[in-house]
Amino acid sequence: NTGESTASRSGVAVKAGTPEWEENIEYFIKKKLRVWCRPANGKWELGTIVSTSGEEATVSILSGNIFRVSTWELLPANPDILCGVDDLLQLSYLNEPSVIYNLHYRFSRDIIYSKAGPLLIAVNPFKKVQIYEDNLVQAYKQKTMDNPHVYALANTAYNEMMRDEVSQSIIISGESGAGKTETARFAMHYLASVGGGSSAGIESNVLCTNSILEAFGNAKTSRNANSSRFGKFTEIYFSVSGKICGAKVQTYENILLFVQSRVVQVTQGERSYHIFYQLCAGAPSYLREKLNLRNACEYYYLKQSSCLLIEGVNDAERFRILLEALDIVRIPKVYQENAFEVLAAILWLGNISFHTGDFENHAEVVVDEAVTTVARLLGCTTEDLMVALSTRKIKVGKDHITKTLTLQQAFDVRDALAKFLYASLFDWVVEQINISLEVGKESAGRSINILDICGFESFQRNSFEQFCINYANERLQQHFHRHLFKLEQEEYETDGIYWTKVDFEDNQDCLNLIEKRPLGILSLLEEESKFPKASDLTFSNKVSYDSTSFLQKNRDLVHVDSIQLLSSCSCQLPKLFAARTDDHSLGLSNPNHSGGGLDFQKQSVAAKLKGQLFKLMHQLENTKPHFIRCIRPNEKQLPCHFEEDLVLQQLRCCGIIEVVQISRSGYPSRMTHQEFAERYGFMLFDSASVSKDPLSISVALLHHFNVPPETYQVGYMKIYLRMGQVALLESRRKQAL
Ligand code: ADP
Ligand code: MG
Repeated sequence: NTGESTASRSGVAVKAGTPEWEENIEYFIKKKLRVWCRPANGKWELGTIVSTSGEEATVSILSGNIFRVSTWELLPANPDILCGVDDLLQLSYLNEPSVIYNLHYRFSRDIIYSKAGPLLIAVNPFKKVQIYEDNLVQAYKQKTMDNPHVYALANTAYNEMMRDEVSQSIIISGESGAGKTETARFAMHYLASVGGGSSAGIESNVLCTNSILEAFGNAKTSRNANSSRFGKFTEIYFSVSGKICGAKVQTYENILLFVQSRVVQVTQGERSYHIFYQLCAGAPSYLREKLNLRNACEYYYLKQSSCLLIEGVNDAERFRILLEALDIVRIPKVYQENAFEVLAAILWLGNISFHTGDFENHAEVVVDEAVTTVARLLGCTTEDLMVALSTRKIKVGKDHITKTLTLQQAFDVRDALAKFLYASLFDWVVEQINISLEVGKESAGRSINILDICGFESFQRNSFEQFCINYANERLQQHFHRHLFKLEQEEYETDGIYWTKVDFEDNQDCLNLIEKRPLGILSLLEEESKFPKASDLTFSNKVSYDSTSFLQKNRDLVHVDSIQLLSSCSCQLPKLFAARTDDHSLGLSNPNHSGGGLDFQKQSVAAKLKGQLFKLMHQLENTKPHFIRCIRPNEKQLPCHFEEDLVLQQLRCCGIIEVVQISRSGYPSRMTHQEFAERYGFMLFDSASVSKDPLSISVALLHHFNVPPETYQVGYMKIYLRMGQVALLESRRKQAL
């Protein structure tokens, strides 16, 4: 990148070589104003130009050192008065060092929220900051405080929902550990306080669902001790009077749960899902006895990563809180215990071992406490369980014959069963929560939806998991683009108002590459996954991606013998999970001959993901979006550490500087003349004297209030207003009412 001109590396505000750029920087050089330069280490430094000769400048930086740099390497710095502004929109010079400086300046003063035009930026403080107290909820509600804050954003969403009768979405994105889930929680907390006090405290149920889902769906990873391994879309419904009357949670986990295999395989230093450790540490003695429960360190699935505890977290205490939450959400005690039985069965499954008998390719289950306990917890006989784990039925002509499994196959069948049970259990928990939350739901057609989903991932090696996550994010990114750029520009143009085009990177090409038929990655993947002789290599020959185990992960196979076993179980949940595999809503019931055995193949992972994403996009399409971008300031999860390069990379990733530029030159508020006239028309003293057509009323209103001409544009259909103008009009309206 070093060959590029400075200005293009620093964002798009002023393009190098344009008259604007020359004017700016020459002015700076002439006036010897403060500039950004990069002397030696590639880090931006603030300095003052001492002298220039030709294309070289001598700059004195704050530390007192003096450097000679190319004038092409200089960027204008903002005056002191703009230090730490609330909204990047206010910066006179919008380049990367100025943006980073501004965020860093605020961060070091514990001001973690900033605006970038319509976007809220939240930099994770990795420590408690005193900005979420109840009195602050009130302050944002009454608008005595309106600095950037997740409360302020939630308040805007709430007010706009009430005013416009349009559902709203709060879309939270960011890398793992950036603070999405915490931010979503604060947003919900705010909405629960503002919309609380109606039917049977449903708002506290909504908050409780968070802790339940986190127990089942979060785990300690190397990046985040409480990392959500699922995406979550929470719809909160409001009554006509603005009270919470129901909610619904939708999760995007199974896709990732299955392929991530965290239940059966945990990387060193990470943990499986919290619930396992909580159950082991916190179950009361009657339950321990019933489930034959041991300490976490006695289960293979948990102990394999040599990480059983999280610093500062008391799993037993968390279990107690979980039980409370389950009660609040009114999940019956019997159901709770059914769920714990499945969890214990999974743990004991991991302890089942095999040995080869007289023949090498002949795995036999070791008969011990593990296998008998699993059989008891699922409600089947030990013999049936052993058969299901060590053999498979295959069809030869019209007959079924039984084939023994190799050791490796037997372990795979065991792990696949554990994963299947867990994924089914998670789905079931979400369903139970939804049953409880929708009690009292009136169809007022108003909701605020909160989306918390993992952001783009890019590691040394990127496999199927990254492909799925990144694909989902490309879709969301497009939604963001659509909203902020495309619609914006198109609307201005078709409504005939003056507008300078801003270039931005569209990702439609990228989405086509993934989705388009017949040669998009998804189509190729589908085709190869169905083709018996296909291998990861044949797939990879068509697509350039690190495709190791793409096909196996996409096929998402569950042993059909295991499903049959579960359907014969006497316990409630295993039976239910097995029955669901015939359910068309869950996927295709498509017994498939492969590798000489009968496998139960559900809809492929990628196909399911695509379906879910299209549905999500459709749900978002009909709402007014509010975007929050969470930023991870350092990799070590430390407070008070702000790594500028790491932050910059995240800002670039979502085009924050372009967002600010487009908002600054744009008109973020707009109303049809009809709407404008209806809302403010009554304030005209003599409305009879103007013609009744809405456009004339709009224009008359603008004159009447002396709205400065540079702050609005009148289109054919709509009136466009700069930032802040609606607030002024609204306050006048309030006075007039
Ligand atoms: P993500 O969901 O993006 O992976 P989380 O929301 O789980 O990240 O945040 C990771 C950790 O960062 C949290 O466990 C918490 O310790 C800390 N954190 C995030 N946001 C805040 C905040 N606003 N205030 C204090 N700590 C925070
Ligand atoms: Mg999270």
